Amino acid sequence: MLLVAALIFCAALFGILSRPVGFLAAFWPANAVLLGLMMREPRLASFGGWVAAFAGYVAADLVTGSTLGMTLWLTAANLTEAATGYVLFRALAEDHRRMRWPQSVIVLFAVCCCAAATSAFVGAGVSTVYFGRDFALSLELWFSTELANTTVVLPVILTAPKLSDMRLPGRIELSAQGIRRAAPALALAVSILLGSLLEGPGSFAFPVPALLWCAVSYSLFSTAVLTLCFTIWGMVIITGAFANLPGDADLLDWGKSIRLALALIALAPLSVANLNAARNQLLMRLKDMVEHDEMTGALTRATFIERSERHLEENGTAAVLMLDVDRFKTVNDHHGHAAGDRVLVAFASTVLATLRPGYLFGRLGGEEFAILLPQTTHGEARAFAERLRRAVEDHAVDIADGCRLTITVSIGLAFQTGIARPSLDALLAEADAALYRAKACGRNRVETAAA
Ligand code: GH3
Ligand code: MG
Ligand code: MG
Repeated sequence: MLLVAALIFCAALFGILSRPVGFLAAFWPANAVLLGLMMREPRLASFGGWVAAFAGYVAADLVTGSTLGMTLWLTAANLTEAATGYVLFRALAEDHRRMRWPQSVIVLFAVCCCAAATSAFVGAGVSTVYFGRDFALSLELWFSTELANTTVVLPVILTAPKLSDMRLPGRIELSAQGIRRAAPALALAVSILLGSLLEGPGSFAFPVPALLWCAVSYSLFSTAVLTLCFTIWGMVIITGAFANLPGDADLLDWGKSIRLALALIALAPLSVANLNAARNQLLMRLKDMVEHDEMTGALTRATFIERSERHLEENGTAAVLMLDVDRFKTVNDHHGHAAGDRVLVAFASTVLATLRPGYLFGRLGGEEFAILLPQTTHGEARAFAERLRRAVEDHAVDIADGCRLTITVSIGLAFQTGIARPSLDALLAEADAALYRAKACGRNRVETAAA
């Protein structure tokens, strides 16, 4: 609760101190921060959490000299915005709340519109009563400011990785790859600089191409952070523009129009990054499905062969194990095909639990599997195969009706020294011949190919 109060106090103070004299704040992140916090940590959205936020808002206004009446009124408007956003977001699917679906940015924008509108209705009267401003204009100003704030701040909070998962670049490398990686961010910095140097009403749109480049190159979170930087820069441009507007221009009309434009421009990089992230997620899932056998979770035959060949090309030594479940046909014959499937799943999970990082485990077909042990010695490979054989034997499988089956596996082991470089095919054939010997010698045993 203390954290909520402190964060809202700091965010509100930042808004108050950055506002142009005589105006309501141009950049007011506090409401979006509060809403984002409540969405990321729902346990904060308790009565105590809202009271803490109230205290943070009130304290920031009072220490900067606002009257009590104005403070309470503004706080009511701020809390209305966060509460409206919270209620609407809670009604959405979790994937929308974490911006994982292609349409999530548009949905988020609709929520921000509603939240900005309700808070504008509650808060716009402050400008009318305290600054004598027209109510309709106050409404438009409040709405445009809040829409811009929430649209750019919320995505940063909603997509931020957990602190424990955050990776800061250790050191910046001047390699070609490092430069390529930094190029979109550099382009953004250059276009922001150009936009600042070349005056004109359209200069704040200069960074759009670079923002889109960032959106297709970086994560959604990074893009959201860069978009936020761009928007803050845009707000600063507005403040600068106030000083030298054309004589007949209405200062407030310009401000509200540019703020709205900034919120709408921000949708472009956010949507592209959102779509890109959703597409990458889908591609990763598809790749995973293509590379793994659906039933056992082992690599498919093609993927096992491709990765093993790559390993043999890049490194010298490796051992290959061929595994074949003993008398598996009798499991199918006596207990049915479904029980046979269950045995295969249990067998694969026993193997997977035994593997070390870097080992490749593939299903070559039916109840035949293979394992590639990278950079291993003869003794280690043999000990591993023996351990695996025993683990399978010790792991009775529950099939239907409380029936437990003990299964065994025969293993053929072939070893690759790295001096002579036989192909994977040759290595698999050697392991298969050793497996054949293991079967002939009574099964449930490990046989090694002749060196
Ligand atoms: P051996 O000890 O000599 O290996 O005897 P075995 O009975 O295991 O011999 P074989 O390799 O001929 O039998 C394999 C059987 O595995 C034949 C096939 O019907 C069955 N099988 C292959 N794929 C699957 C599967 O995905 N599910 C089930 N339930 N059975 C499968
Ligand atoms: Mg077989
Ligand atoms: Mg078999």
